[in-house]
Amino acid sequence: MRQSATLIPTLREVPADAEVKSHQLLVRSGFIRQNASGVYSFLPLGKKVLQKVEEIVRQEMERAGSVELLMPALQQAELWKESGRWYSYGPELMRMNDRHSREFALGATHEEVITSLLRDEVKSYKRLPLNLYQIQTKFRDEKRPRFGLLRGREFVMKDAYSFHASQESLDEVYDKMYEAYSRIFERCGLNFRAVIADSGAMGGKDTHEFMVLSEIGEDTIAYSDTSSYAANIEMAPVVTQYKKSNEAPVELEKVNTPDARTIEEVASFLNVEASSCIKSLLFKVDDRFVLVLARGDHEINDIKVKNYFEATVVELATPEEAKEVMAAQIGSLGPIQVSEKIEVVADHAVKAVVNGVCGANEDGVHYQGVNPERDFTATYEDFRFIQEGDASPDGQGIIKFAKGIEVGHVFKLGTRYSEAMGATYLDENGRSQPMIMGCYGIGVSRTLAAIAEQFNDEKGFVWPQAVAPYHVHVITVNVKNDEQRKLGETLYNQLLDRRVEVLLDDRQERVGVKFADSDLIGIPVRVTVGKRASEGIVEVKMRQTGESFEVHVDEVESKIM
Ligand code: ATP
Ligand code: MG
Ligand code: MG
Ligand code: MG
Repeated sequence: MRQSATLIPTLREVPADAEVKSHQLLVRSGFIRQNASGVYSFLPLGKKVLQKVEEIVRQEMERAGSVELLMPALQQAELWKESGRWYSYGPELMRMNDRHSREFALGATHEEVITSLLRDEVKSYKRLPLNLYQIQTKFRDEKRPRFGLLRGREFVMKDAYSFHASQESLDEVYDKMYEAYSRIFERCGLNFRAVIADSGAMGGKDTHEFMVLSEIGEDTIAYSDTSSYAANIEMAPVVTQYKKSNEAPVELEKVNTPDARTIEEVASFLNVEASSCIKSLLFKVDDRFVLVLARGDHEINDIKVKNYFEATVVELATPEEAKEVMAAQIGSLGPIQVSEKIEVVADHAVKAVVNGVCGANEDGVHYQGVNPERDFTATYEDFRFIQEGDASPDGQGIIKFAKGIEVGHVFKLGTRYSEAMGATYLDENGRSQPMIMGCYGIGVSRTLAAIAEQFNDEKGFVWPQAVAPYHVHVITVNVKNDEQRKLGETLYNQLLDRRVEVLLDDRQERVGVKFADSDLIGIPVRVTVGKRASEGIVEVKMRQTGESFEVHVDEVESKIM
């Protein structure tokens, strides 16, 4: 690429609205430009790096057996109503109407679209498992878009979805995807950790986030140097007292459920419909309503919690409205109760409160007919979140905190979507079963920004080879000098012939400007064609180490690659 023919609008000043290094440098070095809050154009260099990250993702998806497809960004509201998320997703979902007043959303994620696709196309266990992915623009109307590409309202995501006929098959693919994610972020040169995450509103069990360690991260992770334990602290409530839930009210009947791992299994022990195992509660928290759905067994920091409760925040004006939403979301799953008793401030605090309060606190035991509000009165004080200096739950180390940027997220969804949307297949015995699902996301543009955040110095970017926009930056000091211009062209063409990715600075600019831009852009190798052009001698300089040496133009490639 010739710099005279491309668009790299570098800036000397730090943009006023850019708080973090990656945002400042991506703008200053002419990689991106903002259009609206959280909405960016990728200029030619930004697009190059984005493609590099995408290519790494594609290669590792292929290795993991995931197959690329492309789904629409424009999604019918009907699908989101089927899953219930039209009501629960909240204002982050960009909603719109077409000219016939039909409702649509711009894809924030694609569980609904892919589940409806598989529902129509896959009928037999013989076609499972399937693992499909796409790389696509996503839309989320974030409350606080910020830090440039790190939290956009329009951003590039790789999202994969897997479909299975058995839990073992899901476990296997989940492990493969987890490995693929580790390889991807390693190849990007990132300092990251995979942490246990919160299954939140998605409704699932196992889930891990991939966190890049960074002071500007918006998440906090608890980890230890001597233990393999690492968790998002949202997911690390420590139950300090079990006292209230230990005092089981006498009217409750304990039922042994020794081998039950899932809600369906618990249900079969209790001899009830799975759905009736699920209770729902509505708490008022400040002026918001928190919907809490009881789920099956759950492990928190290796503490087995029976009847795990899951909280979803629904921001609605009146309890009546909230009830309606809940009814639509959970269908006939259970009685709805409204409680104003628990007054806590944060959503995760509610989760901590409800985690475990209905547990019988014995392995393989459940209470039948539990009514959490009536039967248990545990309060926020019974729970606290893990703290620095605590022993790690596996006892192998001491907990430290670090800030992290969530670049990836893998998730065992189970049958949350397939059940709600009727995505079933016929098993070996001809019985209809809901497909078991997993989903796996990577913020591709956020990963780019996380790399940018990590690889820079006072002069600009220092891109690692794997994602650098170009490998070599050839700078012709004075293009009006015939010898220099010709040698620059020769070298440029030689490198192109050898398939080296090269940017040629053939602009009529002062050399100081060219060097400053080159440092800012941060291509790993710079080759300067200047004073000794007549002898065929050029200067090679490494961006990362500053090391430099002179070499004959014909030897450049062998010296640098
Ligand atoms: P966050 O907690 O940062 O809001 P999320 O948990 O809502 O992210 P997921 O639904 O797990 O995000 O989406 C998968 C991936 O998409 C995330 O791991 C992250 O890398 C990326 N991502 C999510 N939201 C954004 C955003 N607003 N801008 C850029 N990337 C994003
Ligand atoms: Mg989010
Ligand atoms: Mg998150
Ligand atoms: Mg996430």
